Order: sequence, then C-alpha cells, then structure tokens
Amino acid sequence: MMNEKNYKIVVEDDYPKSNWDIFKQIIKRSLKGELLVGLKITIGIFYRTLFKNESATVHYPKEKLPLSPRYRAVHKLLRLLESENERCIGCGLCEKICISKCIKMDTRIDENSRKEVLEYTINMGRCIFCGYCAEVCPELAIVHGQRYENASEQRAHFTLKEDILTPKNSLKWQIEYDGFGSVSKDADKKIKKTPLSY
Ligand code: SF4
Ligand code: SF4
Repeated sequence: MMNEKNYKIVVEDDYPKSNWDIFKQIIKRSLKGELLVGLKITIGIFYRTLFKNESATVHYPKEKLPLSPRYRAVHKLLRLLESENERCIGCGLCEKICISKCIKMDTRIDENSRKEVLEYTINMGRCIFCGYCAEVCPELAIVHGQRYENASEQRAHFTLKEDILTPKNSLKWQIEYDGFGSVSKDADKKIKKTPLSY
C-alpha cells in the first residue's frame, strides 16, 4: 500500500523563466550535442542502408515478403490439367454459400447438353475472403490464390472470369492444392467403378 513516505518529490526549479533563459538553455543543450544525437543515428542508418545493404525495410513493390502457402487472397478458377477444360461445372454452390453475396454467374446448356459457365464475377469490394466458396466447391474449381494487390478506386470492383481463370498457356504453372478437399494422390485407386449392369 502506498503512503506519503513512498512518494519521491521531484524538484524542478530550473525551468526557463524568460526568453533569454530559453535561448541560453537551447545553446547549452546544442553545445552538449543533444541536437546531433538523432542526426547521428539517422546518418548511421542511411549509411548502412546505402553502402552496406542493411535495409530494415522491404523495398515494396520490387521486393515482397514470402507468403504462407495457406495465404488466401484473390480467387482463381482452375482447369483440369489433362484435358485443359474448365473445372467449374456451374453448379452454383459457391454462389449460394457466399455470405457476402458477391459471386454472380451465368450459365447455359451447350449443344452437348453440358452446362457452360458464360460469366463468373466476384465483387472484390464485398468479398471478405472467408473461403466458403473454395471449401464448398465439389470440383476444386475455385481456390484462393496469392495475389493480394487488388486495391481499387471504387468500392465495388469486380474480377471477371477471364481475370481469374488459368490461361491455357499457363497451365503448367497451375498450383494443385494439397489439404482438405483436394484430390488425394491415390484417388484413382480408390474410385469405385460403375458396374456395367446392376
Ligand atoms: S471468399 Fe467468402 S465472401 Fe469471398 S466470394 Fe468466397 S464465399 Fe464469398
Ligand atoms: S462451386 Fe465450384 S463448380 Fe460449382 S459453380 Fe462454384 S466454382 Fe463452379
């Protein structure tokens, strides 16, 4: 418990009382070098950064910090590696589960009676990167990529299907994701073949 005996009384009786006193205090402190201490530190850091390459900061955007493989940024729509077809089958699950209601898609049935995804847009101004769309996708078609530079001048800004779909000529760089929901390495062996008659 504190009582008066524990208090230390600080006596400050050398406050400058006039402009002349202030001037004298400035000169006294300057001559003691206090003014130059900060400058010395600044010049030291400047020298180490410029000549010894010991920069403490990342030179963004030329340099970027490494991202975790689990980092979830702007979405990607993937293709099948073998056939190069789009993985998305237009089931609409991602659109339905999205809690921000920011996915919109347009589909049609093509001449082969297959569903074709005509448009697929995500309003990045609304997306909260919750990952539900990627988690619910039965085809592993939509995933989160690592592109985080999606600043915009407008609150509502959209990624279009062509912005996030893997181009065919970049398919060899498409990353396949391990982990929950991904295809296991022995998936082919596990698959149950449909009998021809039953
Ligand atoms: S990450 Fe979440 S909010 Fe963003 S599009 Fe997917 S489901 Fe919607
Ligand atoms: S859940 Fe997957 S397959 Fe279904 S519409 Fe969305 S991206 Fe396409």
